[in-house]
Amino acid sequence: MEFIKIEDAFNKEGEKVAIRGWVYRKRGSNQRKFLIIRDSTDIIQCLVEKNQVDNQTWEAAEKITIESSCEITGTVKKDERAPTGYEITVETLKIVGLAEPFPITKDVSPEFLYDMRHLWLRSRRLTAIMKIRSEVFAAIDDYYRSHKFYEVAPPILTPTSCEGRLTLFEVKYYNKKMYLTQTWQLYAEVMIHSLEKIYCNSPAFRAEKSKTSRHLSEFYMSEMEAAWEGLDDIIKHGEELVSFIVQRVVERRSKELKILGQDVEKLRRIKPPFPRITYTEALEILKKDGLEVEWGKDLRTIEEDQLMKHFDKPLIVTNYPSKVKAFYMPDDPKNPGTVLCYDMLAPEGYGEIIGGSQRSNDIEEIKRKLKRDGETINKYQWYLDSRRYGAVPHAGFGLGVERVVSWICHLDNIKDAIPFPRTIKRAYP
Ligand code: ATP
Ligand code: MG
Repeated sequence: MEFIKIEDAFNKEGEKVAIRGWVYRKRGSNQRKFLIIRDSTDIIQCLVEKNQVDNQTWEAAEKITIESSCEITGTVKKDERAPTGYEITVETLKIVGLAEPFPITKDVSPEFLYDMRHLWLRSRRLTAIMKIRSEVFAAIDDYYRSHKFYEVAPPILTPTSCEGRLTLFEVKYYNKKMYLTQTWQLYAEVMIHSLEKIYCNSPAFRAEKSKTSRHLSEFYMSEMEAAWEGLDDIIKHGEELVSFIVQRVVERRSKELKILGQDVEKLRRIKPPFPRITYTEALEILKKDGLEVEWGKDLRTIEEDQLMKHFDKPLIVTNYPSKVKAFYMPDDPKNPGTVLCYDMLAPEGYGEIIGGSQRSNDIEEIKRKLKRDGETINKYQWYLDSRRYGAVPHAGFGLGVERVVSWICHLDNIKDAIPFPRTIKRAYP
């Protein structure tokens, strides 16, 4: 018999089916055993009755342990009491891989679960999150491809910094030093002169020294860069992309959202336009709330979270002070001291999900800001060539995939948004 997936067995009431998977739960007596079997699609209850099966199957049912893999044949019937509404009356059960006593039990600590991540990934919760994560990537691809962007693979090993030296990971590269990429940005900016509209889904590495629930040392950044576009254009892309991702997850992964206890209706309301304010206006809102921030200081987590108490859609904050932003962001001629940039902050305290800007084409301005940041200008000559040979207006942004997944899934910690989290404290398994 051909094996079918558990979710397809739900449509085979009264029919004989063959499924395979792992034992998720087991209970019963010396006459009958209830096995909950899981595969990648769902779980289903299977009933083995001693007087209905041959000896071999009954012995297997007695012997089988949690997380053993197995193959089952039997008949599907509706059963309101079963966890997913259906039950298989088992005819045959064959153990494929008998599991040793499973180390993950009910009352283990969160740290133990991170030590056992390779096994904990089998949990229903993490499985649901990983499916949503996969849907987020699929939505990103669909969004950009339908807007005629080319996908580009940026280098992971880079000779220079782009987001400041403090968070660089150094790598021994033969007898030289290199760094793990913090962003594809500089490479993107030189590639738009041929491909014009490009995007990537790439790992990014940052040695984040402070321990927060929204920073990973290795994370996935989905970045875009477009020739002939400015700040307004990329704000529009950001709004449309984020709502496209959210609506796609709602449409295709509502089952997983429910497993996570997430409110689907709340997510349905995430549609453009998103509210838009300037950094200076953000400070005014914070001041009224009793949180005074000195003009020129970057917004910290507590300030972002306080600000977001006023909004239930993602918020676009433009025109941050020049001195807290990267060297490639151009000064805004209409708002001295600020740059043509925006951050998008997620609701409910999930922090910044997008950081983007228009890019400066003024070589002198770029050099001045590189110097300000303590960089060696000569190492950036290749990048400056993009301004020397047919420069065009351009802009782009990076979206933190795990931040978006955390927000959509309502996670307590960003570590659960990636299969194997890396932080200052955690690099195993
Ligand atoms: P933050 O202020 O939160 O550290 P950032 O200003 O350093 O963010 P950008 O350099 O603009 O972030 O990076 C683009 C996006 O990448 C951010 O909007 C965020 O969603 C994501 N991001 C940045 N750093 C991390 C990290 N350490 N872990 C996970 N996601 C991150
Ligand atoms: Mg940062």
